[in-house]
Amino acid sequence: MTALRIDGTAIARQLRAELAERAARLASLGHRPGLAVVLVGDDPASAIYVRNKVKACEETGIRSVLERYAADLPEGGLLARIAALNDDAKIHGILVQMPLPKHIAAAKVIEAISADKDVDGYSIESAGRLVAGLPGFRPCTPWGCMKLIESTGIDLRGKHAVVIGRSNTVGKPMALMLLQADATVTICHSRTPDLAEHTRRADVVVAAVGRRHTLTAAMVKPGAVVIDVGMNRIADGEPRTGKLSGDVDFETVAEVASAITPVPGGVGPMTIAMLLANTVESAERKWRSATPLV
Ligand code: NAP
Repeated sequence: MTALRIDGTAIARQLRAELAERAARLASLGHRPGLAVVLVGDDPASAIYVRNKVKACEETGIRSVLERYAADLPEGGLLARIAALNDDAKIHGILVQMPLPKHIAAAKVIEAISADKDVDGYSIESAGRLVAGLPGFRPCTPWGCMKLIESTGIDLRGKHAVVIGRSNTVGKPMALMLLQADATVTICHSRTPDLAEHTRRADVVVAAVGRRHTLTAAMVKPGAVVIDVGMNRIADGEPRTGKLSGDVDFETVAEVASAITPVPGGVGPMTIAMLLANTVESAERKWRSATPLV
């Protein structure tokens, strides 16, 4: 391996230590940051994600409130809970774990969260603020990717960045953040005829596809920075069965790239760190608005 292995775990740890200091400062002013995490149903993966988020809050000094509901909770019941959390002065961020049961419209739920508590950054207002280059909550995963890219020291101005994937939660906001950093950005997706033609010209590649071995060494320009968002379970019978794998063929791409994130230990830890960052930021904003002379 010749590439720098970007250590998302270490970078997230450092960031979380800084956030813990900011949270402690707020707590000392009687304004401890608070995050409400809402889980509907009994999806085992969601339960693990939620547990990790609650644990991360505790470790950072953020008060977390976990609300668990049965899978048959009516949509109106969930919307009523969100309205109550919107009005709760001790709550600065509201996270509704996705996916929701089919009878609940996720878009309606996201829009029900007050814009100043949308720490996932999924609402139309947050997306609009990102498009317009205005301050606002940034979606956690692509924002974490930006921090990882910055950690390499690369100056993004004028660089060619290729994002593979165009989801509302990862690919699109990722492309907008790279654009805001003055990169020239190409977005590829499942209908892109020749993916390699684009990635081979890229100084930065972000793969957010959900398919193993999407990006191989032959598709990467020597010296590129490669960020792997993918989280794929390795199928039965393959080496490392059941373990996590990214979208990038790590072993071979690491011989070509200048820097690369591993899976696990790359983007994953940053996603939670950025959720904590948005929550602390939200509490700070609230405190500043309540104490305008400070
Ligand atoms: P998604 O909503 O399924 O989007 C996947 C995107 O990849 C789509 O835009 C799709 O194109 C594109 N795509 C599919 N096959 C392709 C191909 N052969 N060539 C080029 N593009 C292709 O997934 P997502 O939510 O963005 O997540 C992507 C991956 O990141 C998943 O593995 C997910 O588990 C992982 N993830 C990780 C974290 C983390 O914290 N580490 C957080 C979020 C997501 P179309 O639009 O044309 O269908």
